Amino acid sequence: MKQLAVISHKGGTGKTAITVAFASLADNFVLADCDVNAPDLHLFLKADIKKTVGFHDLKIASVDEEKCDDCKKCINFCRFNAIDKKINIIPKSCEGCSICEYVCPVDAIKMIDRDSSLIYASETHFGPISHARFNPGEKISGKLVTAVKENAKTIAEEKRKNLVIIDGPSGISYPAFSTIIDVDLVLIVTEPSLSAVLDLERMIGITNHFKIPAVVCINKYDLNIQITEGIEEYCKNHDIELVGKLPFDTVMTEAMVKEKSIIEFSDGELSNRIIEMWNATVEKLLI
Ligand code: SF4
Ligand code: SF4
Repeated sequence: MKQLAVISHKGGTGKTAITVAFASLADNFVLADCDVNAPDLHLFLKADIKKTVGFHDLKIASVDEEKCDDCKKCINFCRFNAIDKKINIIPKSCEGCSICEYVCPVDAIKMIDRDSSLIYASETHFGPISHARFNPGEKISGKLVTAVKENAKTIAEEKRKNLVIIDGPSGISYPAFSTIIDVDLVLIVTEPSLSAVLDLERMIGITNHFKIPAVVCINKYDLNIQITEGIEEYCKNHDIELVGKLPFDTVMTEAMVKEKSIIEFSDGELSNRIIEMWNATVEKLLI
């Protein structure tokens, strides 16, 4: 089974629109929405949830009232003011540090799993998708991304799919590291913004660190030809394949508004270039 991750250095580069376009071109695949900060693939594709599982990343303290003798030692040791005067745990304040469990003289506190997120296996008109719902206010960790990827692999094995297409997070972060760490190919979607070359250099630094091959797409390349030429030169000098150069076209937004992939919505130049890019990406993926 191959894994392709689509990532970008920031939001708004068209990463998700390109992932959706790929989904309408690919065969026998599973989608994975690893953009856990802002998961929207399932909304766009009107995913029908088939299976839900809780994701336990963090722990929370739990008090056994029967055992508690009200000594208040736990309150005094809790640095996060997460235990009230009646020895109730305040979930939003508990950091799961376990100090209360350690200091309780009568073993009345245990650390238990805390449901911080839900992970789903769903169906879309393109095929299955693995995605997650992250509880507001919880800390995001790369573990959730790993869990979404593992869920996608399980779906792929069950349904005999041979490709996982991952919509990765924007920016450089632990979730981004977890997204790319074991994939076969990374597609970096960039655009000719002022910091584009520097941002691309940082993204390539990460893929090189993990020894993952990377290819590049310049979206909206015609918005600044000079910067686009700088990106092309960087890619050429570093032996990085530029698989696609996509022109700015409002048809991309129009397709998203109509909740369709660009491939479904239009057979114009942009769609043709994305088809060419998909073919080049698959070729690289199969090497
Ligand atoms: S686990 Fe830590 S933060 Fe939570 S209640 Fe116990 S001492 Fe406080
Ligand atoms: S330390 Fe243990 S016994 Fe003392 S108040 Fe807390 S839970 Fe109860």
